[in-house]
Amino acid sequence: MAERRDNIDLVWSISELSGLFERRTNIDDFLQAVVDRIAEHLESDVCSVYLLDEAEGRLVLRATRGLDPGSVGTVSLMLGEGITGTAVKELRPIREARGNRNPLYKFIPGTNEERYQSFLAVPIRRGLSRIGAIVVQHQKQDQFTAHDTRALQAIAGQLASTLENVEMIMELHNRRAPLLPARRGAAEQIPCQCAAEGIAVGRVVHLGGVDDVVEPDHDDEDQEAAFRRALERTDRQLEALHRELDERLADIASLIFGTHLLMLRDEEFSGLMVDGIRNGSRAHVAVRTIVDRYVEMLSASTNPRTREKTQDVRDLGSRLLRNLRSEQDDGGDLRGRVVLAHELFPSDLVRIAAEHAEGIILTGGGATAHITILARSLEIPTVFLRAHDDGNLSDGDMVAVDAYEGVIHRDPSPALLERFERARELHRIDETVRGEGPAFTRDGVAVELLANVNILHDVEVASRVGAAGIGLYRSEFPFLVRNDFPSEIEQLGIYRRIAERAPEGPLVFRTLDIGGDKLFSESEHSEANPFLGLRGIRFSLAHRDLFDEQLRAMLRAGVGRDLRIMFPMIASVEEFIVARSRVLAMQKDLEAERIDHHRSPLLGVMIELPSAVELASDFARVTDFMSIGSNDLVMYLLAVDRANERVEALYQPVHPAVLRSFKRVVNAGREHDCPVSICGEAGGDPQVLRFLIGVGLRSISADPARIPGIRTTIAQIDSRDAARLAPELLAMSTTDDVLQRLRRT
Ligand code: PEP
Ligand code: MG
Repeated sequence: MAERRDNIDLVWSISELSGLFERRTNIDDFLQAVVDRIAEHLESDVCSVYLLDEAEGRLVLRATRGLDPGSVGTVSLMLGEGITGTAVKELRPIREARGNRNPLYKFIPGTNEERYQSFLAVPIRRGLSRIGAIVVQHQKQDQFTAHDTRALQAIAGQLASTLENVEMIMELHNRRAPLLPARRGAAEQIPCQCAAEGIAVGRVVHLGGVDDVVEPDHDDEDQEAAFRRALERTDRQLEALHRELDERLADIASLIFGTHLLMLRDEEFSGLMVDGIRNGSRAHVAVRTIVDRYVEMLSASTNPRTREKTQDVRDLGSRLLRNLRSEQDDGGDLRGRVVLAHELFPSDLVRIAAEHAEGIILTGGGATAHITILARSLEIPTVFLRAHDDGNLSDGDMVAVDAYEGVIHRDPSPALLERFERARELHRIDETVRGEGPAFTRDGVAVELLANVNILHDVEVASRVGAAGIGLYRSEFPFLVRNDFPSEIEQLGIYRRIAERAPEGPLVFRTLDIGGDKLFSESEHSEANPFLGLRGIRFSLAHRDLFDEQLRAMLRAGVGRDLRIMFPMIASVEEFIVARSRVLAMQKDLEAERIDHHRSPLLGVMIELPSAVELASDFARVTDFMSIGSNDLVMYLLAVDRANERVEALYQPVHPAVLRSFKRVVNAGREHDCPVSICGEAGGDPQVLRFLIGVGLRSISADPARIPGIRTTIAQIDSRDAARLAPELLAMSTTDDVLQRLRRT
């Protein structure tokens, strides 16, 4: 415990500083002087000031001594998030002898704060209104006293009034942007939901929109010659994109630009445009007319596959127009643009990513699971606006999309852009946190870390972050992106590439999981309740020929690897038995055909339905492994669709029923010696993780980009403490009790 300090002179010196402030014009210098003085006086390693952006409910780091200075203005916490966010939300000081052991603690990557143990956060308030927080941290434990808390509270009171005055003075002098982020023009910020994290800056363009606010102005120019040049340039660009895509994403996306190229080279299509020009139309008018005519024809088709092509034709039209407008070859892609789309199919997403768009804003009101998952794998920042809201965004608007915090900034200031650039840097640093092999709890218990893989690119990230194998390969992605069923040979090619590049260790291929919200773009058999319909294994068992082809491709690709095949959406033991019999039958066929294949793959099930939890012991007896699919399990257990904003708050992975289900599955596995893992997102949630380790789970499969963070969280958990905590949580009847107990840990 630190010696008692006399804090009176500190309070004085801050009030003196406040008094002096009016002669200064720079709030940053002032706050820096404050944090320096507090840190020196309390002999703390860190002192930081956060100010609340009320419009966004976010605390932004505004000055620090001790943390990385680059984090100022970029690091932020939501109100209620972490110890600091909680202190401000609940308007009470929080003092922790070992802050990084508190479950509320939120490690902020890139700030270098991981080494600090003592933690004291004091809210800055004015009456009941929240202004921000002062936080001090120290490497040693238990450095701050109740006396220090009171001193910081006095300083916070002093600062509150100064900050208010400062804002007014700043506005009067009009020297710079208003001081408190809370008062920034909220109209410029559009709240949104994050689907795939990242930061995107660029001009808005509607998907398939013509993207030409300004028409070409070459009145006297030979319109036909201009059109032909645009045609050639478009052809070259598409060829180049096609080649690049083939290299980068061959596993899923080989024919994405196929329709574009076919149409472009179709002489009727371009011929009609030339006719129009010869009849006196300007080139861009001719292009628009023919594109509109084709779109109309295609949309009237009774064949859903034909109807789907309208998007490709629109897209091609917009590309031609862009090339007509500008003679400069800008690659003809979406660099510098943020795509605004109402709805998006996986193939659109891959195309947009291949064209180097900076980010995506979806206005459809909810991102489906596979769009979210795919966007993350493609590393394209994606957000979605609430239903019926397009944020009043128009083509050409400049936006900065913060897909970490869920805010779209329209017309971002240069200062904001600079801040975003720094934030990008910080996140890059975070991604370089590596590790090898299992994670270890603080008391040395090993936890296996496997990667979830959606596309080949994830396999590379999995290796970089030291994953011990692939715990879930979502085989539906090549199907969804192509909107079709690849043949056995095509699948073999895809799975082989995954197998060849995957880290040593388990390689879990999951069979097709379509249905629910993972639908083909225009399903021929639409269902009233797709989540309760022909989904996952049900689809495979209803289409045995497709299932057999997939199993053959998996068995062939897994030769020489620790191949495991897993079935999704299993509701009954019978389903597993039938699925297993198909695997055995395919092995027999391949044997008879003398085709090389894996002879003894392990076979397992996803536990993602309440019925499967109930039958966990039965599954543990007949399967080789089980994996908890918490994404679906939470949804089906609580009957909550996470993409439905009206009930999303009810989606609670720490709901007592969910915790008890997790425990039953882990227990069943242990009793019958059947390995259990978790591959849903809850496995990466620090609070759930503590519980899962407490009930004895020792294997987690997660998005590879999340693995470094999970490693860090596990290192902070003591398995013995977790084992003591778990029964307490299991005895609780309400989510609130669980959350409160976790907060006290
Ligand atoms: C799950 O449901 O938790 C899971 C991992 O599967 P998916 O997200 O692909 O449905
Ligand atoms: Mg699932």
